[in-house]
Amino acid sequence: MQLKGRSRKQILEELERANAKNQRYEEGKIFCSMCTKPHKLAIKAYNMFLCSNLGDSGLFEGSAQLETDVINQLATLLHGPGAVGAIVSGGTEANLMALLAARNKTNIAEPEVILPSSVHFSFVKICNLLKVKPVYAELDSNFRADPSSVEKHISKRTIALVATAGTAELGVVDPIDKLSEIAQKHAVYFHVDAALGGLFIPFLPSTKPQFDFSLPAVASITVDPHKMGMAPIPAGGILFRGPQMLEYLKTETPYLTNRYQYTLVGTRTGASAASAWAVLNALGIEGFRKVVKSCIRTTKVLSQGITDAGLSLAVEPTLNIVAFRSTATKKLAERLWSQGWYVSYVPRYDCIRMVVMPHVKQCHVIAFLRKLRENL
Ligand SMILES: *Cc1c(COP(=O)(O)O)cnc(C)c1O
Repeated sequence: MQLKGRSRKQILEELERANAKNQRYEEGKIFCSMCTKPHKLAIKAYNMFLCSNLGDSGLFEGSAQLETDVINQLATLLHGPGAVGAIVSGGTEANLMALLAARNKTNIAEPEVILPSSVHFSFVKICNLLKVKPVYAELDSNFRADPSSVEKHISKRTIALVATAGTAELGVVDPIDKLSEIAQKHAVYFHVDAALGGLFIPFLPSTKPQFDFSLPAVASITVDPHKMGMAPIPAGGILFRGPQMLEYLKTETPYLTNRYQYTLVGTRTGASAASAWAVLNALGIEGFRKVVKSCIRTTKVLSQGITDAGLSLAVEPTLNIVAFRSTATKKLAERLWSQGWYVSYVPRYDCIRMVVMPHVKQCHVIAFLRKLRENL
């Protein structure tokens, strides 16, 4: 830090220069992100509530009400009318809260959690933090969790099973109905990571894979407003089927207006809840259906264009993620990236992964497909 402050003009110029080095969603070249350009009203709401602190919610009742309302609306959407939860920093914190609650509930020494090997990498951090041993279950030929492998790994040390509704790499949905039956049979805690899929699957036009509280064993769900919810970062969501699980997350606050906190993060902005609330209310179910319909249509144009170019899909898309291979996939990904087409390469499946978020329009996909053909 320097002794004397600098002029406003200098500061703004330097910020502009830094900002100019950032990619912009609206340019339609970011195909590797699960975040997207926030909804206009979400940005407005974010700015409006920027100074409020949900970690001291007695001072910010308006923000707290919006958070409760967002959780209630998500609970209804996910068929858990009595569900409770919080808007947190993201999917990682949401998943951490679920596993922390599950671990605290059981009191098992040397606890283990069963994770499909396609699970999000946040669980690596979480297992490390919580000192829970990850036990990986196998996938079937479509990269979905294999229920028999999951069941085989259940032991007296198992504190939880996790499934994903929309994996980060391939966008596939685990057979959550079957896994729910297994969890119920063995009376094991069952968490569903629907960080991406939670605000996508409910709006699919026809066959929707089951993944939510309508399945009896599902105890908690992660669903992130800062992904398909089109809210600014940070906005993750965690829902528990009922208030009992919150007891395992409860910490008394010695000096704040709210007697207890349940989240890991102490000071947390009310802007996240306000912006998530703005989008849910601005779009409604019909608005989200339109967004999802458009993402699906664009996903189809992309996947069709890829197969027309003679490349093979790693898996038929379920959600808005397309994964494909060429004869030299990694090289192709690097070439596209160096030309300013931001796709990701996933070594684990040797595929190029593209996420068709709401900022990705058909014209962007068509321009991409042209580039792709030039690079083959
Ligand atoms: C994005 C994602 C996460 C992690 O969320 P962050 O907001 O990055 O912390 C966890 N699980 C899944 C399935 C995700 O897609």
